[in-house]
Amino acid sequence: MAIGGGKVIDCCKYMAFLNKLPLFVMPTAISNDGFCSPLASLMVNGKKRTLKTGLPQGIVIDTKILAKAPIKFFYSGIGDLLSKFTALNDWKFAFRQSGEYVDDFAVALSPNSLEAFLNYPDKTPQDSECLRILSNSLLLSGIAMEVVGSSRPASGSEHLISHAYDQISSQPSMHGLQVGIATYAISFLQNKEFENVRKAILETGFFDFNKKYPLNKTEFIEAIKLAPKIKENFTTILSETGQIEKLIDFVQKDELMQQLLA
Ligand SMILES: [Zn+2]
Repeated sequence: MAIGGGKVIDCCKYMAFLNKLPLFVMPTAISNDGFCSPLASLMVNGKKRTLKTGLPQGIVIDTKILAKAPIKFFYSGIGDLLSKFTALNDWKFAFRQSGEYVDDFAVALSPNSLEAFLNYPDKTPQDSECLRILSNSLLLSGIAMEVVGSSRPASGSEHLISHAYDQISSQPSMHGLQVGIATYAISFLQNKEFENVRKAILETGFFDFNKKYPLNKTEFIEAIKLAPKIKENFTTILSETGQIEKLIDFVQKDELMQQLLA
């Protein structure tokens, strides 16, 4: 039984997987979709690695406990959820480029989970219904990964930038906060959900929270350059010639980006 935050849950998921044991999970904070995903992010020989695990057999979520977690966990959870906007577009892009298999059921799950959260009016970390919907949305994203057997439904180029930032930065931030900021930038590049993502980061309070703790601009730009090399054989919008330069230009000029990075 794993009770705690992301690190505890990831360790327990991996141990249960190796020992072929059932696992029950009770998250004390919802900062990403890891509490219900078939992957664990663990330090291996001093480097963060994503390892395959199974899904937990059961999950207990107590919104009263989640409401007591530091507020940054809430916004990190939102950031990780927003990445479904861009991850799905990268997946479809990979299909058009290389014929990579796209699972329609998994594609259908993600937008539903996003909309349920975005349509809920009172998006505050003290509102237990809001926490329930956010948890449920992230949970569906984890299940979508299990359905396909890959992280594609939940992770695209925005995640590559966050993983690269983890490697480059002297002070990496939380996974979902980095991912949410990268999602906003990537949505511009994809030229598909930009207005929706912009609206979402403003309306959910994600932008206001993050401008108090901006990421390092120089490191973020380096992370964009490194991102396509993070995962082998993983086609995203960043794989296309000229897109990295276009994204760096956006990061240096966009009004919201100037406040999310310093
Ligand atoms: Zn994530």
